[in-house]
Amino acid sequence: MLFLVSDDESADVTANNVGSLLLQLQGLDTASDQARHRKANLAEREHLNAVATTVVEWERRCTALAAQIEESEQAIASAEQRSGEIDASRLRLQEQLKTVIAPREAEALQHEIATLDEERSALDETTLVKMDEQSAAESELSSLKAQEGDLRQQASNATSALAEVEASIDAGLGEIASSREQIVSTLPPALVSRYEHVRAKLGVAAAMLTGSRCEGCHLDLSPAEVDEVRRAPADALPDCPQCGRLLVR
Ligand SMILES: [Zn+2]
Repeated sequence: MLFLVSDDESADVTANNVGSLLLQLQGLDTASDQARHRKANLAEREHLNAVATTVVEWERRCTALAAQIEESEQAIASAEQRSGEIDASRLRLQEQLKTVIAPREAEALQHEIATLDEERSALDETTLVKMDEQSAAESELSSLKAQEGDLRQQASNATSALAEVEASIDAGLGEIASSREQIVSTLPPALVSRYEHVRAKLGVAAAMLTGSRCEGCHLDLSPAEVDEVRRAPADALPDCPQCGRLLVR
């Protein structure tokens, strides 16, 4: 398909000029694609995600340790309370033992005391285990808390670094967009829409014809095709017969 520049009422630009403007437009669009791709794949974002994961893991561990410390404290307190009750009962039973005469009764009381002693010693064991757990959790938590400042600083630095590089890419994209707008306003709208149509399909819509080669698809045109393109009217923009891109001569 030949696109005749002079078909359009706004075509006050020459075909050569149109060709060069199209290539500039293509250059801007390619730069914009690259900037967007770069923005979507920033090492700064990857770094921030890694830091954020570390912070989340750190918070999760701190919460778990605080819960474990509280659980140990409660277990120790309830063991102490039960031990107190046992000590009181044991004292009472021993007093009773002094007053009983019947051997069977004395035996029963001694058995009760022995049962309480067993429970008391199991409670002591539990208390020791829980105290160990509590102390280990407290020391891990305190070393984690010591890392907090550094971790928060890393997160803040990573957030700023990402924001900074994103802002600079956005500024570049803004400049590209305004240059693009200027070029588009000087081109015939039908040509722009043809360009957009090809660009949507192929990414790169305008290509130079260098010798017999289309710089878009890197294929050689046949001598007859080259001849046809070369002999097209000066105000026409022919398509590459291989890839369909607008050929700039
Ligand atoms: Zn081509």
